[in-house]
Amino acid sequence: MLIGLDLDGVVCDLGPGVAARIADRYGVASHPDTWRTYDLRELELGVPQAPFKAFLDGVFADPALYEAAVVADGAVAGVERLLDAGWRLVGITARPAYLAEITTAWLTAHGLALEAVHHTTVGAKAAVAERLGVAATVEDNPREADQLAKVCESWLIDRPYNRDYPLERARRLRSWDDAVGRLCQLRLFA
Ligand SMILES: [Mg+2]
Repeated sequence: MLIGLDLDGVVCDLGPGVAARIADRYGVASHPDTWRTYDLRELELGVPQAPFKAFLDGVFADPALYEAAVVADGAVAGVERLLDAGWRLVGITARPAYLAEITTAWLTAHGLALEAVHHTTVGAKAAVAERLGVAATVEDNPREADQLAKVCESWLIDRPYNRDYPLERARRLRSWDDAVGRLCQLRLFA
């Protein structure tokens, strides 16, 4: 039985790195907990919109952002507990393929024992999940989570920036602890 884990926003927290770069570039202190939009290009920071979008594209293309990223709260223990319960874990990420090496090195360095990472694009994760035959996925992108719900049990982990999006099919998890509780239960009755 396989679980597909999204990386950014689920096991990896890019928020502090992005906030630091915004502060450096614009002198604006913006805490990730205050972000209320999944697409950060829609953040209202009082800075010119077009250059801000180009700036963010650059931030997210920079391998250093991913190399120095912190682990999401609860993810290390959560991954361990899912493995202990007998799940197999893979990453399903929209990170581009050129980040593959950095990604596996980061996972290893943080003790996150995923057996593989599948790189795809935004909006294409459901096809990957279906091909792999995953039983469940954990995402932080509400639209992607709803698409994934068509092919497996799809969970959206609650984040400040996805809280205001209504879900059609996917279900919301409060935290990694909640994820472990529900997914271990699912495994028990599989
Ligand atoms: Mg994500």
